[in-house]
Amino acid sequence: MYTPSQIFVKWEEIMYIVMIGAPGSGKGTAAKILAKELNLPHISTGDIFREQIKENTNLGIEASKYISKGILVPDDITIEIFKNRLAKDDVKNGGIFDGFPRTMAQVKALDEMLVKVNKKVDLVIELKIPDDVIVQRILNREVCSNKECGAIYNSKFKPSKVPGICDICGSKLVARVDDTEESIKKRIKIYYENLGGMIEYYREKNILYSIVPEDPTSDKASEQAVNSVLQKINNR
Ligand SMILES: [Zn+2]
Repeated sequence: MYTPSQIFVKWEEIMYIVMIGAPGSGKGTAAKILAKELNLPHISTGDIFREQIKENTNLGIEASKYISKGILVPDDITIEIFKNRLAKDDVKNGGIFDGFPRTMAQVKALDEMLVKVNKKVDLVIELKIPDDVIVQRILNREVCSNKECGAIYNSKFKPSKVPGICDICGSKLVARVDDTEESIKKRIKIYYENLGGMIEYYREKNILYSIVPEDPTSDKASEQAVNSVLQKINNR
């Protein structure tokens, strides 16, 4: 079902994994599943930013200035915040990085951080989902209005059993109105521009594993992507 590129890393050596994927690609979901399967911590920059903002740290306050405007947090702040997170004990023996690095400056910074502790990025997983599918995924997203439930549906790809009603708790579903086709396409474009030479950089190191799902509209696409990675690793 998937057409992954070659992978050359050894299973026993895999500790640090970088997830790459456009917003709406399902990268976060895939990272969560993989973290559970490999028993590694899932380190999401979104979570780190939220923590820092909640704790009202200087870096959190700086970051929130950009996040509230919908702008990507600049490299220096992001790198600093990530560095603090990487210094914590739970990441000493590996981790799955979701949302970092997302620029070449961050790629280099991560290499430097890991070299200092005699480690490196062992595997990079790129989730390649066609732009038009991402647009449809985000545009047709419906969220359960019950905040404690928060289930997510897609009126096109993963509809609830009863239209407009949550399968799990029976609350009303609300559409996200803040996204337009144009704004989503713009976000995807910015994402690719920011990547710069990241993909090539990791490909040259022979640690890039690109996954192109044949059926990216499936709500199981992220799960299937993870399975293809695990299979590839285990078959070595
Ligand atoms: Zn619900």
